[in-house]
Amino acid sequence: MTVDLPRVTYSNIGADFGPLHDHLDRAIPDFAASWLGRAWTSRFATGPARNVASPIDPALVLGAFPESTPGDVRAAVASAKAGARVWNRSSLDDRLEFAARWRAALAEDKDLLAMAALFEVGKSRLEAMGEADEAVDMLDYYPGELRANRDYRRPMNQMVPGESSLSVQRPYGVFAVIAPFNFPVALSVGMLCGALLTGNAVVYKPSPDCALTGLLLAETLRKAGLPEGVFNLVLGGAAVGEALATDEGIDGVVFTGSHKTGMAIFRHMAGRPWMRPVIAEMGGKNPAYVTRNADIARAAAGVARSAFGLQGQKCSACSVVYVDSAVRDQFVAAFKEFAGKLVVADPRGREVFMGPLYSDATARRFEASVAQARAEGKVLFGGDRIEELAGNYYRPALVEMDGPSSLTRDELFMPFVVLRAVDGLEAALAEGNAVSYGLSAGIYTNDEDELRQFLEGAEAGVLYANRASGATTGAWPGGQPFCGWKGTGVGGKGGLGIWYLPQFMHEQSHTIMAI
Ligand code: NAD
Repeated sequence: MTVDLPRVTYSNIGADFGPLHDHLDRAIPDFAASWLGRAWTSRFATGPARNVASPIDPALVLGAFPESTPGDVRAAVASAKAGARVWNRSSLDDRLEFAARWRAALAEDKDLLAMAALFEVGKSRLEAMGEADEAVDMLDYYPGELRANRDYRRPMNQMVPGESSLSVQRPYGVFAVIAPFNFPVALSVGMLCGALLTGNAVVYKPSPDCALTGLLLAETLRKAGLPEGVFNLVLGGAAVGEALATDEGIDGVVFTGSHKTGMAIFRHMAGRPWMRPVIAEMGGKNPAYVTRNADIARAAAGVARSAFGLQGQKCSACSVVYVDSAVRDQFVAAFKEFAGKLVVADPRGREVFMGPLYSDATARRFEASVAQARAEGKVLFGGDRIEELAGNYYRPALVEMDGPSSLTRDELFMPFVVLRAVDGLEAALAEGNAVSYGLSAGIYTNDEDELRQFLEGAEAGVLYANRASGATTGAWPGGQPFCGWKGTGVGGKGGLGIWYLPQFMHEQSHTIMAI
């Protein structure tokens, strides 16, 4: 337990994390000794087991995890259908009491979940702890929303004497909850909160190589106590995800992951006899704008942190920086100075800012993008492999391109940021908006008019200004909602905000004449 230790909120970059690091110096090896390398079993995963290695070091085995068969997926959905018969009718009090129990279980296992994410994703210590802290806070925020909105039940106007009318929100039934790899704890908890707190039963599928956090989260839900069948876990990759999302028994899908997968789910649902909700939060290609009126040191720190935190593998990571030509040289010098001090190494170390790239596929994409930048533009900083470390460790890259290209338009999901020198904010905003995504966008300026121009003109769901802690550190339950626009978010009402929970329910009106 880390009760008296500083919490990590991503935004509190100036806090003294010394005591937390002292604690983690012990907690990390303890976790590895007790939890890594186990052979796991799970009720709805009866297929063959597969060893999964940590991206930190291919020799480090996370465990052996079984996969769900098609029959397991069908059985999990059937179990959820049975659970839904009870939970769909749960009272607000039932759900709030469950939320309090789940919060307690998550808080108790917070270290365990953070350590699992550290080993599973290759997160730095603070990224891993931040994710677990965030998950616990969600169990304060979302129940608070349910309570404040009185379960979204509202009396309507009386049309004739003796008649009353009430608007209520009802759960859809069973939600498939499909999670990505990069925040295996927080995003899973967020989506599960959305479904469970609104009275839906769920079948949850973690990312294929994140079964460890998935199983540990399932344990917190077991401790919290839900009626039989309300929570169900399946394990596996794309095939299991597709079988789950397309199962006839599923009444809605909540998904976080790539644009390609999210849109495939959406298109499948559109072919059904009636629409079922798909709540999809997808990728991003996120600009930051540095104007001639910016505090350049702050801009350099903010962009580098945002672009390289968690190895650039955050949906909201800055990936293109539009810098006014008047301050381009100054920005590049400040950026190199700041980024040159970021430590890339085994993320178990206390000074480490960046760990390994998540997968071999990401490493190949990184090398290909650096080669493309060398051929079509310039590499200004980094981009090379750190050969002495096992695993996919690379120095993060800043490259410069003369015009828009696939590197400025496509999501790459790695520590790679493109600089575009531009003349004026208007031209920069036009180019930054000309992508099919719309997650985060930031500006660095001390000019009020430029700030207003940005807030009115940037086509993204999450806008920020002058943050030295960067974009990706912005979202927090009750602090900043996390919402996508355009090709990032179907529905555009993301997590951690006031409109999230109602998406998991449909409205019903009850008009009753007194007899
Ligand atoms: P992914 O799309 O490859 O996988 C996400 C999940 O979908 C996994 O559990 C996967 O097994 C499953 N899946 C794959 N194919 C499927 C199919 N046909 N049907 C159903 N499920 C299927 O994404 P990823 O690589 O795990 O995560 C990275 C992506 O997630 C990036 O694009 C990133 O921007 C995005 N992301 C978005 C947000 C957000 O809030 N907008 C947050 C985090 C990550």
